[in-house]
Amino acid sequence: MHELTMAQELIRIVEDEQLRHGFEKVEVVKIKAGGFSGIDRHALDFAFQVVREGTCAAQARLELNIEPVKIVCRSCGFSMSARDAASSCPLCKSLDIALEGDSSFEIVALEVD
Ligand SMILES: [Zn+2]
Repeated sequence: MHELTMAQELIRIVEDEQLRHGFEKVEVVKIKAGGFSGIDRHALDFAFQVVREGTCAAQARLELNIEPVKIVCRSCGFSMSARDAASSCPLCKSLDIALEGDSSFEIVALEVD
């Protein structure tokens, strides 16, 4: 299960940070994920609730920010949300467009106590 691995990785990073900075507990874990990361928000929430037990993040809330996949025109560089599902560039009418996104997954901030 993809999300369980991610949640375990989150806790590992959080505990690393705790060792380094010596905070008592984590209140919010802010995460940024790429549009192609394929994260299921609810599955990650659930997995996180399981793995955080007994750690400094036991009460923590996950704030997951998934960046939207974009459509980018290779001719003029125009970009738009992939939700618009265009088949050509609305600006220059080029058909040379591509989906753009990444599969990154990282903690961008921890709010600690
Ligand atoms: Zn264009």
